[in-house]
Amino acid sequence: MGKTFDIGLERLTGAGVSGPVSGPDVSEGAGMEASATVGASIEEKNRTLKTAGCGTHGLEGETFYLETFGCQMNDHDSEKVAGVLLARGYRQVETPEAAKVILYNTCSIREKAAQKVFSRLGELRPVEEAERKWIEDNGAGLKRADREIGVPGVEDAEQWAGRVKTRRLQSAGKIIGVLGCVAQQEGEGIFERAPWVSLVCGSASYRKLPQLIAELEAGNRRVTGLDTDTDETFETEITRRDNPFRAYLTIIEGCDKACSYCVVPFTRGPERSRASASILEEVRQLAEAGYSEVQLLGQTVNSYADPTPISKGRKMRFSELLAAVAEVRGIRRVRFTTSHPRDFGKDIVEAIEAHPTICDHVHLPVQSGSTAVLRAMARTYTREEYLEKIALMKAAKRPISITTDMIVGFPGETERDFEETLSLLDEVQYDSVFAFKYSPRPNTPSLKMADAIPEEEKGRRLAILMDRQREIQRVRNERTVGETFEVLVDGKSRRENQWSGHTSSNRVVNFASPEQELLGDYVQVKVVSAMPNSLVGEMVGRVEFGNQ
Ligand code: SAM
Ligand code: SF4
Repeated sequence: MGKTFDIGLERLTGAGVSGPVSGPDVSEGAGMEASATVGASIEEKNRTLKTAGCGTHGLEGETFYLETFGCQMNDHDSEKVAGVLLARGYRQVETPEAAKVILYNTCSIREKAAQKVFSRLGELRPVEEAERKWIEDNGAGLKRADREIGVPGVEDAEQWAGRVKTRRLQSAGKIIGVLGCVAQQEGEGIFERAPWVSLVCGSASYRKLPQLIAELEAGNRRVTGLDTDTDETFETEITRRDNPFRAYLTIIEGCDKACSYCVVPFTRGPERSRASASILEEVRQLAEAGYSEVQLLGQTVNSYADPTPISKGRKMRFSELLAAVAEVRGIRRVRFTTSHPRDFGKDIVEAIEAHPTICDHVHLPVQSGSTAVLRAMARTYTREEYLEKIALMKAAKRPISITTDMIVGFPGETERDFEETLSLLDEVQYDSVFAFKYSPRPNTPSLKMADAIPEEEKGRRLAILMDRQREIQRVRNERTVGETFEVLVDGKSRRENQWSGHTSSNRVVNFASPEQELLGDYVQVKVVSAMPNSLVGEMVGRVEFGNQ
């Protein structure tokens, strides 16, 4: 199994397989995806993508650096952006210093994430600009000015000057681009804040990227792709996939839900679904290339609406698409995220019941346990309606692991509302929770809402929520001791004989085995001990699949 898998991956992704076993912890926003990191060196990816036969269009030797912030959808967008550039003959490099084109694929879901991007841009300020400011501000003053753009960790002017020399000297003459949500949100304002940026492109305009880069190559100083009124999805001929074990596939872009705190409808545009026939064709290619696990992505993945009829005017519902993906030969695991409670119905649970290849895990963000807060958030369901969806899953023929997102400190959230959120944790018994302090975002209705909660109070509520959930996870995970799970091995520790992987329910399992090569294999692991965010086990066998 391992061998065939590697050969397939070379064809499609160029990724090799090695990575440490991670030590997951519970922290803000943590919990569900505390996975081991995997992946090949960038040189290996470049090399194998070339062997995949991408055209070079005479740009052999040009280099790009791409850094990604944010969610899985951003990670996957970056895979597609990398595919587009590699297909044009660019080569990916590991540092901004070594690159001709420097790209940041950004996230603006919370303020902290957006700030990070401006910190990065600050590091790239060109040397002439930096020197002008140096003279203007005379050392210590400069420190202050520099903080405006957010250069992190600058202790004193001397240290700052050292960084100017090493990094900024090299940034002159490069193409610097901001992609994704911050690009869409700040638009041309980025050119004012960081005049050394020459490309600003939101995710709804990624199809235009090759054209925008060509315009810069032809001598244009600044280019933008900021339309959101598109009905297109970002499909590329080749996607350079970074995760050799789990292939991500966006099936629906954008969001129409308009939750009052959320920037996504502004930054990613309206909902656009990809044709089911095209999705299924890509899944078949992925299976042929050696992938056995696919994850269907969308901000509201279960709001999928097939744009083209498959036969006699019939379009696929999301649950039908799930089933069709699950039936593709070679596919052993199908995941999907994120589901919106409003569009979550019995048909999805039935699809999970009917197809063992659809993973027994549903991520169903609730955001709050209080109906009053849910109403203020414009989430379109009450606590009771949400609990009805949970009941559907709890009644399923096989256990389904349930995870969620929660926001604490939404404007007007009373102590009583917060207590209701805590009681929801107790009632649902989630396997993992991503919890966030409410972060006011530009353009969102909640920005103007009264009764803002002080940061300190948000922090207090977050800590209480996380403590409560950690205890729930500890108890739930402890119940698995003695059970045996099927695990897809996706990480190898530097420590001898230590491996890690994920169960169908997306639990992280660290386990011991003296085997030499297990990456990409499915094995049986018996749990011997448990922590709140991961299980520890020992391998008790391999999983053999007959011809599907
Ligand atoms: N579409 C998904 C849904 O409806 O649940 C969520 C997508 S969003 C990228 C991921 C999570 O970020 C949300 O579920 C929410 O918990 C959190 N989030 C979004 N906006 C936020 C804000 N302004 N402050 C704090 N957390 C926020
Ligand atoms: Fe944001 Fe709500 Fe859309 Fe999720 S459903 S992306 S939280 S607007």
